[in-house]
Amino acid sequence: MIDVDALSEKYPAIKQMQAYEPIFWKNLNYKKEADLPVGVEHIFDAEARFQRFAPYFEVAFPETLPTHGILESPLLKVDKMKAVLNAEAQNQVRGNLYLKADNYLPISGSIKSRGGIYEVLKFAEKVAMKHDELVYGDNYAKLNEPRFKELFGQYGIVVGSTGNLGLSIGIVACKLGFKTSVHMSSDAAQWKKDMLREKGVNVVEYNDNFSHAITEARKSAEADPTAYFIDDEGSYDLFLGYSVAAVRLQAQLKAQNIKVDAEHPLFVYLPAGVGGSPSGVAFGLKKIIGENVHPIFAEPTHIPSVSLGMMTGLNDQISVYDAGIDGVTKADGLAVGRPSRIAGKMMDTLLYGIQTFDDQKMMKNVAELHDSENVNVEPSAASGFTILDDVQAQLEQDYPMENASHIVWATGGSMVPKGDMDRYLDDGHQVK
Ligand SMILES: *Cc1c(COP(=O)(O)O)cnc(C)c1O
Repeated sequence: MIDVDALSEKYPAIKQMQAYEPIFWKNLNYKKEADLPVGVEHIFDAEARFQRFAPYFEVAFPETLPTHGILESPLLKVDKMKAVLNAEAQNQVRGNLYLKADNYLPISGSIKSRGGIYEVLKFAEKVAMKHDELVYGDNYAKLNEPRFKELFGQYGIVVGSTGNLGLSIGIVACKLGFKTSVHMSSDAAQWKKDMLREKGVNVVEYNDNFSHAITEARKSAEADPTAYFIDDEGSYDLFLGYSVAAVRLQAQLKAQNIKVDAEHPLFVYLPAGVGGSPSGVAFGLKKIIGENVHPIFAEPTHIPSVSLGMMTGLNDQISVYDAGIDGVTKADGLAVGRPSRIAGKMMDTLLYGIQTFDDQKMMKNVAELHDSENVNVEPSAASGFTILDDVQAQLEQDYPMENASHIVWATGGSMVPKGDMDRYLDDGHQVK
């Protein structure tokens, strides 16, 4: 049992978290030396695998033809959104504001097209090679042939999800031919379940939180020797799939003449659920772009799982429910009460800090982004904007801000049906 009273003596911010007040947690281990279990070579290994699969995506998902089978999103300068935010902020954003628009990523319209899809590809490659049907030098377009669907049909893929991970994995795994089961928590939007069922995915629904759904998913995979479990709570393959974003972003920064050095620091604002996607991206950024990029996580005040885990050093050994925090949020992509086993450990020396935010302010930012830039995102994906005001006050103490660049990572939203999006916008427009 966790003695929360003793913990909050030691970490007074826990009391604020229990009162659902926004907090900033500064990581005092930031930039210390660390011995990490994965390195830059693993990022390039993952990038090479995505490249091998590019010809497959071109034939199986023609929507990826314009990018030659590479799943990538644009980096957009959002001056109008910056003006809207600065007009109401206490701490102005100085420098340039950008949106990394993963809401436009092909296939799932979310950041999960990076990690989730990557792990499916890695498993498919392994199975095809084990059966002597594939070598590294092949044109992987052949994986779209019927004989591979038959082969992959002998295997299952199982995942637990609050929505988007299941969506990305379900779409690609089914297309390859795997028997696919997605175990969904009660947070998952109805349209995501409907879309997956239409594609032939076995959707298992729970009237319970993510911790429950993933536990059931893990159990069902253990009971089936042909099933492969994709573990959102601790998979390095997911993590490395996300990290490839940094290689792509580095090229985009260069193409747009965005300088990153000590006088031109780059701040990247990433929403955290279980902590897997933001930590994978942040790890990649630190390894590929270097010491002048500073990752910052955003979490809802009602489910600050990564904050609680990293602040106390307990990581996955503590959940928000242990601290009596209710875990209720409109940011369904962030509705995870217990952080991943690896996120906190990997981020120990690589993360600048974490800011928590209020849901209503996030909904307002969803509407503002739509109105100012005509970009639609789902609630979680706007949260990088939501923390800007609070975080600037911190950053100014540590870095020169005049020539800074800020990237808000928009983690999802282009596939949200119009009716759902309209409801988000109505909600956001009502916030004063
Ligand atoms: C999954 C998700 C996140 C957070 O990723 P984690 O790996 O759970 O931390 C953020 N935004 C959206 C839209 C997501 O789907």
